[in-house]
Amino acid sequence: MSTFMLEIVTPERKLYEQEVNMVSVKGAEGELGILPHHIPLVTPLRIAPVVIKKDGKQTVVAVNGGFIEVRKDKVVILAESAEFPEDIDVERARAAKERAEARLKAAKKDEIDFRRAELSLQRAMNRLNVKTAYDVIG
Ligand code: ATP
Repeated sequence: MSTFMLEIVTPERKLYEQEVNMVSVKGAEGELGILPHHIPLVTPLRIAPVVIKKDGKQTVVAVNGGFIEVRKDKVVILAESAEFPEDIDVERARAAKERAEARLKAAKKDEIDFRRAELSLQRAMNRLNVKTAYDVIG
């Protein structure tokens, strides 16, 4: 089965660099399945799980916004932050979720804090979803 190079990079580190068979992401306009020889593109990513397929195995990463760049030689996911299920601290995500929910109640919709809290809530939910849905099956 043919492969392409996939990198997942955050401002802090290179999280992933492997030859893979497929990657599925949630772009601004919906689900995007990338196979080898996909046409070059750049598009923003939602706060959502990214699913990687390699040698019949599936790996999931919580990607918290950023961009995907499909190049001729490789595919790069530039994530604002990203974690493998095994690196997700559930208590921390639960606490972040609670903080964000409290802020959403307190802030008015047009305030910058409201949008910030919404994004924080999305990151926390994404981490909790990835942890519960994918940690066990790997
Ligand atoms: P918190 O409010 O708990 O800091 P956050 O959503 O504001 O959460 P980010 O700014 O997205 O955090 O990430 C900051 C750093 O902390 C990144 O390296 C990210 O991978 C890591 N991180 C954040 N939350 C978790 C978590 N629940 N488990 C593991 N790593 C996390």
